[in-house]
Amino acid sequence: MKPTHIEHIGIAVNNLKEAISFYEKSFGLECYAIEEVADQKVRTAFFMVGQTKIELLESTDPEGPIGKFLDKKGQGIHHIAFAVKGLAEALTTLDASGVTVIDKTPRKGAEGLNIGFLHPKATFGVLTELCEDPSK
Ligand code: ZN
Repeated sequence: MKPTHIEHIGIAVNNLKEAISFYEKSFGLECYAIEEVADQKVRTAFFMVGQTKIELLESTDPEGPIGKFLDKKGQGIHHIAFAVKGLAEALTTLDASGVTVIDKTPRKGAEGLNIGFLHPKATFGVLTELCEDPSK
């Protein structure tokens, strides 16, 4: 497995509206999508920066993963996501080699991507997501 690029960087924010406004006004970026991922108890907003996205994450439930993250650590970088080809195989190979994976098989993420997370304790404290665009 070798990532082709950084697909996105996920940033946990307290208030999605305020964060979107900052990225639009201060950086001149355009929010092109807002999506709620019920499964993850999160609302996301996307910005394109070159071929990499910024994914702002607002919790919809204090008991969800972003809610807990915000409670524990406050706002900030939540995860980094690499684009890969052959996601299912990559997760299997990493798992077999002793890397702690959160998702042993791909699941559905935002924007129709298939995703899988690696445990931050296996990736030097950075929650790491691998994603694959099934349409490519
Ligand atoms: Zn992500």
